[in-house]
Amino acid sequence: MSESTIFTRILQGEIPGEIVAETDNVFAIRDIAPKAPVHLLVIPKTQEYRNVVELAAGDTALMAEMVEVAQNLAAERSDGDFRLIFNTGAGSGQTVFHVHAHVLSGGLDETSLGG
Ligand code: 5GP
Repeated sequence: MSESTIFTRILQGEIPGEIVAETDNVFAIRDIAPKAPVHLLVIPKTQEYRNVVELAAGDTALMAEMVEVAQNLAAERSDGDFRLIFNTGAGSGQTVFHVHAHVLSGGLDETSLGG
């Protein structure tokens, strides 16, 4: 059994983090260092997929569930338009190797592409 990621520890209540949405397989939290007026992380409850490439190869239904949760959150918290970012690999800025989607919404401009 691999060590729990920071996101698993938040899900299990071991470290603080308000869960703003939850389905059977997915949960969402606010990013601790927001880069947009709405900056949420949508995360599978399982930590078995390290990045979106592994997720896409392993469970497309789970990936679709993440996108649906992202869409619902952007609709609830902003104008419904959103940017979905999966940093993949350390060179892209990925720091947590438990796949997660950054949902950025509200006040986006052409330059705010980073997660
Ligand atoms: P990555 O860089 O792996 O794509 O994204 C990881 C994200 O997790 C970062 O944007 C970072 O701000 C966020 N993050 C790291 N630790 C915590 C934490 O303890 N709580 C919350 N809410 N977000 C975190």
